[in-house]
Amino acid sequence: RAKAQGRAGYQVFNAEMRAEALNLITLERDLRRAVRQGELRVLYQPIVAVGTGCTVGFEALLRWQHPERGLLSPADFLGVAEESGLIQELDRWVLREACAQVRVWQRRLPAAPPLTLSVNFSGRHLAAPDVYTALSAILAETGFDPHALRIELTESVLLTHSQTTRETLERIRRLGVGLHIDDFGTGYSSLGYLQSYPVDALKIDRSFIDRMLSSQGSAELVRTIVSMAKNLGLRVVAEGIELPAQLERLRALGCDYGQGYLLSRPLTPEQIPAFLAGGNAVDRPEQLRNAG
Ligand code: C2E
Ligand code: MG
Ligand code: MG
Ligand code: MG
Repeated sequence: RAKAQGRAGYQVFNAEMRAEALNLITLERDLRRAVRQGELRVLYQPIVAVGTGCTVGFEALLRWQHPERGLLSPADFLGVAEESGLIQELDRWVLREACAQVRVWQRRLPAAPPLTLSVNFSGRHLAAPDVYTALSAILAETGFDPHALRIELTESVLLTHSQTTRETLERIRRLGVGLHIDDFGTGYSSLGYLQSYPVDALKIDRSFIDRMLSSQGSAELVRTIVSMAKNLGLRVVAEGIELPAQLERLRALGCDYGQGYLLSRPLTPEQIPAFLAGGNAVDRPEQLRNAG
């Protein structure tokens, strides 16, 4: 009896594991197809100068318009992309697509300085031996001004202390491309090591902005990050601004740039011209889901 139960338990576990593995394999196969068949999309979330309210640029955010599962967010497939090594292909696809797209908006709306583009690069991608070559090739191919490009990377990339990654970041930086530390504050949280890397800006993680009005500790942390960044000559971007009171506090603290649903949701490329023209009605990415 006990043995039978044990065996049954074992079989259930096994079946779950098999389902999980199958899921990952299916997802990986589907993701390869997605790249080839044009199922990937880029949404653009405006980044705003906190002092003036002007849009300075956009962060490119990847989506997957899955034929059966609908519009998928990075959380649904980035893990598999990382494990399978597909992440490099995805990051490069987003970079090429977004450089070409933002260049169109820059031309249509000649402003000085030009609209910036922020693109997320995974740590695994930044460790790839050909990442610099690929990046400069895409800049050349699209004619995108390197000074208007920012690569967002997480603290964990710097904490590997890899000499190769350091050299890669320095070469990318020498092209004129900005390096922004994403989700800042969630990792090691020492500003000291930032001095030894060619970093331009910190993006304060959304979780701190979310709590800054309710938690003294989070408010203090945001204030400290802003003032220490200033001392190090770094710019600060606050992500996840949802409330006017958060924006006001950040403005008072001297935070340079902001991003969040209050200012705008991530938008489809079709929605950007109206947003730039000042319409900027808050809109839903679900539109893409419905259009699917
Ligand atoms: P992230 O780089 O920190 O991007 C900000 C995320 O916060 C985005 O989620 C954005 O939609 C969301 N967000 C922005 N404002 C608000 C707000 O006010 N409230 C809330 N609740 N959320 C807000 P998304 O698009 O789901 O992306 C999640 C993460 O996936 C990104 O976080 C980034 O780490 C990663 N990711 C996105 N696109 C790419 C890509 O092309 N390559 C790589 N390697 N990673 C990407
Ligand atoms: Mg980011
Ligand atoms: Mg972020
Ligand atoms: Mg984040």
